[in-house]
Amino acid sequence: MLISLIVPIRNEQAGLDRFWQAITAVLEQTSYEFELVMVDDGSSDDSWRLISEFTTTDRPSLHVAAIRLSRNFGKEAAILAGLRQAEGSAAIVLDADLQHPPELIPKMLDLWDQGRTPIVEGVKRKRQHESFMKRMGASLYYRIFSLSSGLDMQGASDFKLLDRRVMDQYINLPETDRYFRGLTAWMGFDAAAIEFEPPDREAGESGWSLHNLLALARSTIISFSSLPLRIVTWLGVAGLIFSLALTIQTLWYKWMGFAEEGFPTVILLILGIGSMILFSLGLIGEYIGEIYREVKRRPSYIVSETLSPSEHISQPSREQSADVVTAQAHEEVRE
Ligand code: UDP
Ligand code: MG
Repeated sequence: MLISLIVPIRNEQAGLDRFWQAITAVLEQTSYEFELVMVDDGSSDDSWRLISEFTTTDRPSLHVAAIRLSRNFGKEAAILAGLRQAEGSAAIVLDADLQHPPELIPKMLDLWDQGRTPIVEGVKRKRQHESFMKRMGASLYYRIFSLSSGLDMQGASDFKLLDRRVMDQYINLPETDRYFRGLTAWMGFDAAAIEFEPPDREAGESGWSLHNLLALARSTIISFSSLPLRIVTWLGVAGLIFSLALTIQTLWYKWMGFAEEGFPTVILLILGIGSMILFSLGLIGEYIGEIYREVKRRPSYIVSETLSPSEHISQPSREQSADVVTAQAHEEVRE
C-alpha cells in the first residue's frame, strides 16, 4: 500500500538533510511503500536544489515527488498542492523542521490501518518551549476560534494522517482560502489522537512573524464563523435599548423644565457610538474582503515546476490521458 508524506517547505535548507535522514530511518521500520511529496513554497534559499536531489533517490520503497510553487503562497496552499499530487491510500502531512516527529509515523499508520480511523491527528501536548506571550496568544486564539466556530482546536496541529476518502473530500472543497486544521475538524470524520511534544526547531527559523500569525487568526476566524457579525448586531440592539432609555430621560427632563447641561455625556456618547460604528464597519469590511477573495476564484497557488520520477515512467501525459478518456467514452456510446 502506498502512503504519501506531504511536506511544505519554505527556506529549510539548513535542516533538510537531517529531515531526509530522519524520514528514511523511520520508513525502513515499516513495510509500506512511501511517496514523499515535497512542496517548495517559494523558498529563496537552496531548498529547491536539495529537494530536486532527493527526487533521484534509488531507494526501492520510496518515491520522491517535488513541486515548486511560483512564489510563497503560504503553508496552507503548499499542503493543498501536496495533497493534490499525492497518490497514496493515505497521506501524512508533516513539517520539514522535525517539529512533527517522524518517529510517530508507524504508530499513526497502525491506528489508521488497524483501528480504521480515517484521521489520525497529532495533538501538541505542551508548549513549554515557546515564550509565555506566544503560549498565551495561541491559547487565546484557540479559545476564540472554538467559541466562534464550535470546533475544539486546543492543541491541534497540522501533523495529521488523512485517509484517501478524507483527502478527496478536502481536495474537492470549493474554497480557495483553506485552513487545514479547521477544515479537517469541520469535516467531522472520526479521528484518533496521538499526543506529541513538539521539540525545538532543529535548524533554520520559523517562517511566521507576529504579523503573519495575526493575519492567520483573523482570516481563519472570519472564514469559520459569522459570530463576530452577530456580536455587532447584539451591540447594536443593546445600543438601541440604551438610547431609547436615554431619549425618554432627556425628554422627561425637558418637559419638567430642568434640561441638564450634560456636555460630557454628549462627548462620551459621540465618541462611543462613533467608534462602535467604525469598528462594525471595519468588521463587515473584513467579511466583504473575504467574500471578494473567494468570488475571484483565483487558485490557491501556482505551480512553476514539478519533478516526479514516477510521472515520467508510468503515467500517460495529459494529452494521452485525454485521448484515453475520449476512447472510453466512445466505447460506452457504442455499447
Ligand atoms: N512553511 C511553508 N510556507 C510558509 C511558512 C512555512 O511551507 O509560508 C513550512 C515550513 O517550511 C515548515 C512548516 O511550514 O516545514 C512549518 O513552518 P514553521 O516551522 O515556520 O512554523 P511553526 O512550527 O512555527 O508553526
Ligand atoms: Mg516549525
